[in-house]
Amino acid sequence: MKKNLLMILFIFMFLLGFWMAMSPAEANPWEEVQEPYLGVEQSIGSYANGCLSGGEALPLKGEGYQVIRPSRNRYYGHPNMIAYLSKLAKKTKGFGLDDLMIADISMPRGGNFTKGHSSHQTGLDADIWLSFAPEPLTKDSLESPTAVSMVDLQNYALKRDNWMKEHAILFQVAASEPEVARIFVHPVIKETLCEMAWEDRNWLRKVRPWWGHHYHMHVRLQCPEGSLNCISQNAPPAGDGCGAELISWRPKPVDETKSVVTTTKKKRVKIKPGQCEVVLTQ
Ligand SMILES: [Zn+2]
Repeated sequence: MKKNLLMILFIFMFLLGFWMAMSPAEANPWEEVQEPYLGVEQSIGSYANGCLSGGEALPLKGEGYQVIRPSRNRYYGHPNMIAYLSKLAKKTKGFGLDDLMIADISMPRGGNFTKGHSSHQTGLDADIWLSFAPEPLTKDSLESPTAVSMVDLQNYALKRDNWMKEHAILFQVAASEPEVARIFVHPVIKETLCEMAWEDRNWLRKVRPWWGHHYHMHVRLQCPEGSLNCISQNAPPAGDGCGAELISWRPKPVDETKSVVTTTKKKRVKIKPGQCEVVLTQ
């Protein structure tokens, strides 16, 4: 009898150990939540350290757009973002563009992803691919679409075979909306836009150079009115941003006489605003 009990205990301990070994070390609670927090619509905290209350799902298909990789459950945003994307897609369709491919916005309650972007946390960031869908994509191609890069990264040059006038229209229409704070894109694409003759160049100020972003653009909206705990960024510097600052992104010839100093950055632990605790747990 005692032997049997010991045997059962042994099996139990074995299974417990096995289960613990198989579970991920640190599950990310923001990725576990499947539904928005049903509170007042609010973007809380900063783009790269915050959360989202009252998030709304972007319908997976709409006039002028399709949501790609829907299984990632990252198609939630502040209602301002959902309204913006719907409006943008209708406008680009009006200009004769094929469907926009909308990628990551935020998770249902925002928060940080385990891998990938550090922003997209407050429902105010969205990625739009620089490929268009002329037809409704099949379930498989929606889940694993082919990314088309606009930049020859090795040579820091535009891939002229991939770049179309439709891309320029997309940037202009997307950046011209007043609720847009910034659009991040590879510096080579910004240079391309700068070289074009535009009647109005004001919107170019919002198009900001950043690495990555050669097969997608990243739209960031202003803090919405009523989101009192939303932390905004300073406005981009005045002007169209096509001058010296943009040139400074170009690769520099390697100076071999300089010694290379490597520094290791300590990873800061970010603490979210207090309201995010409520958004996550209730
Ligand atoms: Zn992004």
